[in-house]
Amino acid sequence: MRIDDDIRWNAVLRRDRAFDGRFVTGVLTTGIYCRPSCAARHPARANVRFFASGAEARDAGLRACKRCLPDDVTRDEAAVAAAIDEIKASEGKPTLGELAVLTGYSASHFQRVFKRATGLSPSAYARALREERAKDALGGSARVSDAIYDAGYEAPSRFYDDSKGKLGMSASEWRDGGKGRTIHWTVVDTSLGAMLVAATETGVCCLSFEEGEDELRARFPNAELVEGGEAFRDLFERVTAAVERPGTGGDIPLDVKGTAFQQRVWQALCDIPPGETRSYGELAAALGKPKASRAVGGANGANNIAVLIPCHRVIAADGGLGGYAYGTEIKAELLRREAGGKA
Ligand SMILES: [Zn+2]
Repeated sequence: MRIDDDIRWNAVLRRDRAFDGRFVTGVLTTGIYCRPSCAARHPARANVRFFASGAEARDAGLRACKRCLPDDVTRDEAAVAAAIDEIKASEGKPTLGELAVLTGYSASHFQRVFKRATGLSPSAYARALREERAKDALGGSARVSDAIYDAGYEAPSRFYDDSKGKLGMSASEWRDGGKGRTIHWTVVDTSLGAMLVAATETGVCCLSFEEGEDELRARFPNAELVEGGEAFRDLFERVTAAVERPGTGGDIPLDVKGTAFQQRVWQALCDIPPGETRSYGELAAALGKPKASRAVGGANGANNIAVLIPCHRVIAADGGLGGYAYGTEIKAELLRREAGGKA
């Protein structure tokens, strides 16, 4: 699959880890290049130039970002990404041998690398992709394979069957990037910085920091976006209050967009009591999938609704703070407040 600059920029706005290793984002004004998922504040689009690799960015005089360390994307990640591209692009199904040649690995080694990254063997991944395409799931969009990738161990046939009734939504209502849905949004000042909050008639669908209409558009490319809205003022105020006192917004309706597996992870996050934390491994074990911590991490990263779906309660396995899409300062402050203000 060829990815163009619009796809790249959307990946950057979503901080989509699945694109790490497939290109780097050069910022001409700062002379830095980043991986697509870099947690730093997004540069202006006009200042961005994409490069196929860190080496190309360095040739153009740019330096690697010290925050996201784009040159440390491992060879394994790049190989898995290349194989997924090949599987998506090929009508038939590439053999393990062909994928191994493509990536420069032995077949048996590549099989292990791929399965560790995605939870599926390459042939199972290709089969799942074909089945999903045949079912025209998610409106037949290219996001299907990404959804499988996100879901990791989840059997594809179970993607959508148990999504009703969780957090008040059905995944199918979010087909085609939000087509047919109307989203009201606003940006409010909070003690944690500028906060984007967006909602449908069903509930809050996005909460993020240091973002605006462009980032909301990237998350819901085909929805109708409406700034403000009298009917939403009360909801937006409740959300703001819940962010100032995290752990208090449990009754706020949410309208989530994700696979059944992602929703299970998000429900599990909501089940972590305020003031407590878990590692990805502990969360995976709580879901009955102790080997799926990577997939759980992917679902955590795909969460559109910060704070109210408390992905900040997931910390590193060694007890360290771990990463956060909006910076570790905000994460540390949320955890401090949930712990009752104790440091
Ligand atoms: Zn960076």
